[in-house]
Amino acid sequence: MADAREAADARAAIPPRARVVVVGAGQAGLSVAYHLARHGLVPGEDLVVLDRSPSTGGAWQFRWESLRLGTAHRVNDLPGMRELGLSFDTADQTRAARDVVGEYYAAYERHFGLHVFRPVAVTGVRDRADGRLDVRYLQDGALRSSVSTDVLVNATGTWGAPIRPWVPGIDTFHGRQLSTPEYRAAREFAGQRVIVVGGGTSAVGFVLELEGIAASTTWVTRRPVSFEGDEPPEASASIEGRLAAVAQQNEAAAAGAVLPSIISGTGLPSTARNLDAAARGVLVARPMFTQVEPQGVRFADGSFEPADVIIWATGFRSELGHLDPLRLREPGGGVAAVEGRALRDPRVFLAGYGPQASTIGANRAGRLVANQVLAALSPPAPARPALST
Ligand code: FAD
Repeated sequence: MADAREAADARAAIPPRARVVVVGAGQAGLSVAYHLARHGLVPGEDLVVLDRSPSTGGAWQFRWESLRLGTAHRVNDLPGMRELGLSFDTADQTRAARDVVGEYYAAYERHFGLHVFRPVAVTGVRDRADGRLDVRYLQDGALRSSVSTDVLVNATGTWGAPIRPWVPGIDTFHGRQLSTPEYRAAREFAGQRVIVVGGGTSAVGFVLELEGIAASTTWVTRRPVSFEGDEPPEASASIEGRLAAVAQQNEAAAAGAVLPSIISGTGLPSTARNLDAAARGVLVARPMFTQVEPQGVRFADGSFEPADVIIWATGFRSELGHLDPLRLREPGGGVAAVEGRALRDPRVFLAGYGPQASTIGANRAGRLVANQVLAALSPPAPARPALST
């Protein structure tokens, strides 16, 4: 839904020098950018937001057609969104979530003039001799240039880095294997025997919508599945479970360990639809198989399930490869961060990472990270009028 201003933004050149570069314009990146703009940084000039995706909405623009806001977890509003008269709480639940989120985020970027440059993929962030950071990027798929910055906010999410566990025989399978981001619609699997692997909401969604379309659907999880509470999706996990999940993420992020799955701490939403499907035997998970064979999968008890398709809904890891030149990784494989600040480099912030990721707190990251970024800027951000609307 490009209007004249968006088109002009898209054509505008990325400045060679900025005070803050935000990589990623999903929920986390936009939220940080909003707070920084409110504090006087000028989007498109000293605040540069880069996003590699073609359109607005962050990872939401790629979610499958059938996903609705009402069936997903609750999506938090971006800060200031209600000023536009928009809230995901009252959004149209009959339309694809990807379209609604994309449109809301487009309106948000326009309204607050956040000036996102896209599609611009950051390929590497390096030290410069003058103590600043060099952010290299590809624009429209071609190597363009770099922008130097005092501070970098990484908000690249996880969508581009699905995890596919290694299982003996995985390369011998004759059928189709795909991960969550490649899933488009159940009709692709009509009449096929499908194995869905994973204990999160994506896997549950796939199992439910394949019912009656696939010839058979076998749901497989590494850990036993629990449906928790009897509240709406966002509130469904017990307080203890949610606190424990955040604490685990916090601990892992601070130690630079690989981040644990949020779902392992929260259980699955006990919506009427889920409970009903569980009662009907549709949403009943088998333990993980131990071997993939050319025609299907074999379980520890020796039983064999023939399959045409394996869908790996087995989670994601943070996309941080472009930060590798900065050597931020700990021996544990992760980047150590406390409250979004990388412990190994005071110029680097991670928004939507660790305890800030997923449904638990992705949005809270915005203010927290922006305040620290402002404190890190020297000289401080000029006292310009807050962003115009
Ligand atoms: P993203 O939305 O992934 O945004 C990251 C952005 O960074 C993208 O636009 C991407 O193009 C860009 N980017 C990545 N790498 C680069 C690069 N190198 N250079 C430039 N740009 C880059 N959360 C909820 O709150 N409610 C839900 O219902 C919900 N459902 C989910 C369903 C699924 C299937 C999944 C996988 C996740 C779900 N989540 C949900 C979690 C959701 O992803 C987060 O809440 C939130 O969207 C993450 O925001 P983000 O800004 O961190 O990342």
